[in-house]
Amino acid sequence: MSPHLLLNTLRATLGADYVLTAAGDVAGYAEDWRKRYRGTPLAVVLPGSTDEVAAVVRLCHAARVAIVPQGGNTGLAGGATPDGSGVQLLLSLRRMRRIRDIDMADRVLVAEAGCVLAEVQHAARAAGLLFPLSLAAEGSATIGGVLSTNAGGTAVLRYGNARALCLGLEAVTAQGAVWHGLSSLRKDNTGYDLRDLLIGSEGTLGIITAASLALHPQPVARRTAWTALADPAQAVALLAQARDALDAGLTGFELMGRACIELVARHFPALRAPLPADSAPWFVLLELSDSESEAHAQERLETVLGQALEVGTVHDCAVAASLAQATAMWRIREHIPLAQAAEGLNIKHDIAVPVSRMAGFVADTAARLERMIPEARLIVFGHLGDGNLHYNVQAPAGVDAEAFRARHESACNALLHEAAVAAGGSFSAEHGIGMLKTGELTKFKDPVALAMMRALKQALDPDGLLNPGKVLPQST
Ligand code: FAD
Ligand code: ZN
Repeated sequence: MSPHLLLNTLRATLGADYVLTAAGDVAGYAEDWRKRYRGTPLAVVLPGSTDEVAAVVRLCHAARVAIVPQGGNTGLAGGATPDGSGVQLLLSLRRMRRIRDIDMADRVLVAEAGCVLAEVQHAARAAGLLFPLSLAAEGSATIGGVLSTNAGGTAVLRYGNARALCLGLEAVTAQGAVWHGLSSLRKDNTGYDLRDLLIGSEGTLGIITAASLALHPQPVARRTAWTALADPAQAVALLAQARDALDAGLTGFELMGRACIELVARHFPALRAPLPADSAPWFVLLELSDSESEAHAQERLETVLGQALEVGTVHDCAVAASLAQATAMWRIREHIPLAQAAEGLNIKHDIAVPVSRMAGFVADTAARLERMIPEARLIVFGHLGDGNLHYNVQAPAGVDAEAFRARHESACNALLHEAAVAAGGSFSAEHGIGMLKTGELTKFKDPVALAMMRALKQALDPDGLLNPGKVLPQST
């Protein structure tokens, strides 16, 4: 089938409005959020149902045309961007945004893949329950996207990542068959776990069309505090104290270097940090959720912070006195990646290291990076409670960010990724591989694991039509 005939058949199948080919119409889909990658899709198609997704895949299979699935296009690894060949079809799930069901007895919500994460959180809240997955891109990221990347975010410490919140999937295979796996079971040991195989596969093994998601009780009270610390070692000590005292009540623990706060202040001056940025080199945003009462939450938080101030783990702190103040604290944390984007391209890292080794890791790598590129700005922040830092290297103010990135990226990656892996960590904690880190995957992944991954890809997508060149390099 010629590309021309394929496009006409797709128009007949979906309706002409849902097959976009004009440059102006496809532009927003063809470039990634960071503006790091830009592709040239044959067309952007917007199916409205699972049957339509399956029909598109069957047509592409017959025509041997590759498909790049896309949700909210907020991924940070270039996984949802087509290549520049002009022959890959971009399949957007954006029209599939129905919440199909909320079952209060099973505490399960069934959402279509194109549902925006914030809408799912809202629907759960309206039902008196909590869908805890939370990240700064939640106003655009979709359920299909967060599951395909196994996204993390700021509540993993207590509730786990996207995988831990998914009970079942509906998905379309590379051949265009529909797998009906929308289970709400907590237990189902009936052979290979296909749900867990598709989660985190970044659109390379199947297209997720819907998911059944586990809901949690809403906490009765929340408390948020902003603390000032001397270094990451103190932050790790505070984490241990908070865990001991709060146990599962500790629902957020975000570390931020001073440079992050300064960057937010520069680009979003309306957002006021609760403590002056120059009052400490490091800050921790800490959140407690309580299932008893407001008073109980307050008392527990005061105990933890009182002890931390007494033993000197923390040298200053601010406790949010209202929901508005708590939201304002979280907004500063969430605006760090936005401030970085406004500042220009940076060398992004998403490393994981066991918490026990984090302080030594940061001290050692910061010293080595400083020797290597003395003028670089280190924008270090992230989910310390999960041992996951966004350890970003930014050009000095006034220097061409793209030229800086091109010059230093591979040396920075080598330094940080080798150090993370040597410390028992990972070069990709929550953002995935996409096309950004395929080289790192072949470099660092256990060769036996890599061979199993290739075998799985070959078995499920022998023609290599689902998101080729993502996760596994194209040549394999
Ligand atoms: P997309 O970007 O559209 O796609 C991501 C990948 O999933 C691609 O490989 C795509 O092909 C595939 N895909 C998408 N939908 C489907 C589907 N239905 N079926 C099969 N494959 C599919 N991530 C975190 O983990 N934690 C964070 O804290 C975090 N913070 C962020 C903050 C900001 C400001 C931004 C911009 C991003 C952040 N991210 C974070 C990254 C991003 O939001 C997540 O990776 C998110 O899961 C992507 O969802 P999406 O719908 O935008 O997916
Ligand atoms: Zn993150």
